[in-house]
Amino acid sequence: APEVDVTAAAALLGAAADVTLLAHVNPDADALGSALALGLALRRRGATVRVSFGAPSAVPESLRVLDSEGLFVPAAEVPAVVPVLVALDTGSVDRLGPLGDRVATADVSLVVDHHVSNTRYGSHNLVDDRAEATAVIVARLLDELAVEIDEPIARCLYAGIATDTVSFRFAKPETHRLAARLLEAGVDGAGLIRGLMDSHPFAWLGMLASVLSAAQLEPDAAQGLGFVHAVVRRADAAGVRAEEVESVIDVVRSTSEAEVAAVLKETPSGEWTVSLRAVGRLDVRSVAVRFGGGGHRLAAGFTGHGTAEEVVAGIRAALAEATPAH
Ligand code: 5GP
Ligand code: MN
Ligand code: MN
Repeated sequence: APEVDVTAAAALLGAAADVTLLAHVNPDADALGSALALGLALRRRGATVRVSFGAPSAVPESLRVLDSEGLFVPAAEVPAVVPVLVALDTGSVDRLGPLGDRVATADVSLVVDHHVSNTRYGSHNLVDDRAEATAVIVARLLDELAVEIDEPIARCLYAGIATDTVSFRFAKPETHRLAARLLEAGVDGAGLIRGLMDSHPFAWLGMLASVLSAAQLEPDAAQGLGFVHAVVRRADAAGVRAEEVESVIDVVRSTSEAEVAAVLKETPSGEWTVSLRAVGRLDVRSVAVRFGGGGHRLAAGFTGHGTAEEVVAGIRAALAEATPAH
């Protein structure tokens, strides 16, 4: 399906009266923030908009601050056929989960994304894999639409950029300039980042203690470089939010002896949601792809099957053939 530039994508959206914006399943701040920022902007222009994602059925608590105007609707309430669909931060149609079938029936499906692996599954595809976050691309769309970036919109964009650049660590100069614009629009950057990624209930400490005490370091399993891994079982996760479980990788990946970090998170159905991170030498997307997943060079993921030991053994074997990051 054809690639479109920002001008053509903005023209499509500017003409739409009813727009459904979808984030990937288990949305992060980039996926949901991008969908909400664009949704708010189109609503300001008079369109009917709804924002949704395939799962879970509610907005994760730490992301609720982004939906200041109640644009979210649960997946079950998304009409079976929608005229104009926009999929954000979603590299392939399967990552839309149960809402993926809306792509084929929409008159227009616009994909807005920054994944290298994007499969161009839309009728129109606006993909820039050099953008650090999908929110960066959405900001370009808003400028093209000449929508004023007010504080609620800016908050959503800032959240997406801050999350995907790991608090601006991987942000290019132009993206720092965009962030400055967003702060000037009134965003409380420090408060927003604290709520998104630096604020956990006390029970998180106990969960971390139990999970981290069983973490393992294999000093040369990743082509002679270190591989560290940890497992979050359902019992560990009982009583904490998904946010606490998702934060474990950020602790584990700071292990200085390791090039590659993995965290296996047990799902209610007994599968494993796996997060992979690399520092800069190996491409973990090439590992995730082997197991049907995807992502970016230094941050990727997939769903694993079998015992935790089997999933770790699979990653270890795939690491032997992982491509270099550069
Ligand atoms: P996380 O570990 O934060 O869940 O995911 C890191 C990155 O890997 C995400 O930005 C996303 O692009 C990608 N990712 C995670 N899980 C999956 C998956 O199951 N399939 C695909 N295609 N990508 C994934
Ligand atoms: Mn994402
Ligand atoms: Mn993203």
